[in-house]
Amino acid sequence: MDDWRMELYWRLPVYLQETVLGLYAGYLDRLYYGRGYQEALGEFTKLQSASRDDASRWQNDRLQQVLQIAATRVPYYREQWRAVDWSSVRSAADLPLLPRLDKQAVRRHEVQFLVEGHDPKSLWLEKTSGTTGTALRIYWPKSMLPQWWALVEVALRRVAGVGQAIPRAMLGGRAIIRGTAAAPPYWRFNRRWRQLYLSSYHVSQLTADAYIQALRDYGSEWITGYGSAASALAQAGLDAGVTPLRLRAAIVSGDTVTAGMRRSVETFFACPCYDSYGQCEAVCMAMECEYRRMHVIAGAGIVEVLRKDGSPCDPGEVGEIVATGLLNDVMPLIRYRMGDYAAWAEEQVCGCGNTQPILTHLEGRMDDYLVLRDGRRIGRLAAFKRSPTIHSAQLLQDSPDHAYLLVRPGVDYQLRDALAVCDDIREKIGRFNLDVVEVPEIPKTARGKIALVVRLSGRPELQAIYQSLLARCKNSVDRAA
Ligand SMILES: [Zn+2]
Repeated sequence: MDDWRMELYWRLPVYLQETVLGLYAGYLDRLYYGRGYQEALGEFTKLQSASRDDASRWQNDRLQQVLQIAATRVPYYREQWRAVDWSSVRSAADLPLLPRLDKQAVRRHEVQFLVEGHDPKSLWLEKTSGTTGTALRIYWPKSMLPQWWALVEVALRRVAGVGQAIPRAMLGGRAIIRGTAAAPPYWRFNRRWRQLYLSSYHVSQLTADAYIQALRDYGSEWITGYGSAASALAQAGLDAGVTPLRLRAAIVSGDTVTAGMRRSVETFFACPCYDSYGQCEAVCMAMECEYRRMHVIAGAGIVEVLRKDGSPCDPGEVGEIVATGLLNDVMPLIRYRMGDYAAWAEEQVCGCGNTQPILTHLEGRMDDYLVLRDGRRIGRLAAFKRSPTIHSAQLLQDSPDHAYLLVRPGVDYQLRDALAVCDDIREKIGRFNLDVVEVPEIPKTARGKIALVVRLSGRPELQAIYQSLLARCKNSVDRAA
């Protein structure tokens, strides 16, 4: 929202702010749950329990429609595919005939990705978080919104045993209250959706009690938001000795969920924590089932996991996620390089009944790597993600030979757990100096996510933040070289 609109909103008394939220939710209701929603709900319900073959048939039908539109009506593809035999792509297996698409191309050519004749102003605009550069603008046709929200209902919420109609809490990144607010309420209630919107920026040991009381008062039965935010609240509740609150489910997304974060959530809220994967490009969705296997959601897009040279990875081999969206027929993204990494699990029959393939090792944004003196880029270092006692952690690289391992302790944490992580990293990369620093909280990105690796060189805007954090916490520095 524009600054002046936010300023206006902030000046309103709480009850009027909540009225504004209710009106906005009413507007969204018509877009999200209006025409086409019920049909999409039925279609995706069937797809969710379809056999692998039936789901593939459904995907391949949609794929051909999307390719037809892209090749004939979207200026960018018309130009780029001139020498490409796109019409022989009949199924997901043929996709390698088409070139991969980089985010930079979308950034550079933006409107050339729109089907001719569409006025961007008539479309729904999504902006990516832009953690690794400027944000991208992604346009959705408004007719896609009911499909998207039907897919969310069927493939995320129902899988976790909850739904739109059940009161919920959302730990979000919107500035619904002023950053300087120093007393509750750190939330606003959207009566229309029975959604308690909690500020993720004000969670601490001091405020945890008030947050949890709000969840009780408003009858929230499940919680969503960034994994780092939900687990920060759970851990703050545990640290402050607040009486745990039983919820039905936590559905988290948006950043890396470590084993320690999951444990905090599942301990404090006494419910399963489901990790999910999605993005506003809307080309690839995945959701954990009750067996903690992250199944691809067929309705969103076709997923490939590829090596650097573009060849497909074997099961267990980590590669880049490249996805083709099947919902957006106004701005099609085809073989879009997500910049996220994962591996396919071995083929298996999952007890949950979902036949869709399973992603593992979903981690490491492209930018999450150390750069060593010899120029090596070392990614996928997040050994701490598997340590159940480390709530969250970050590698802060300040020179080619040195990084701090910032650790936020979790349940039953001991220093040796962090030192084991350092050993693990050095086993992978060789000689490298690491210092463990215990911190009360890992600094977040502007959008409230936790990056696994931060390289200070070239990030002057971050230096003051980290210098003051290190100065405050340096008495806990432990050399682990
Ligand atoms: Zn499953």
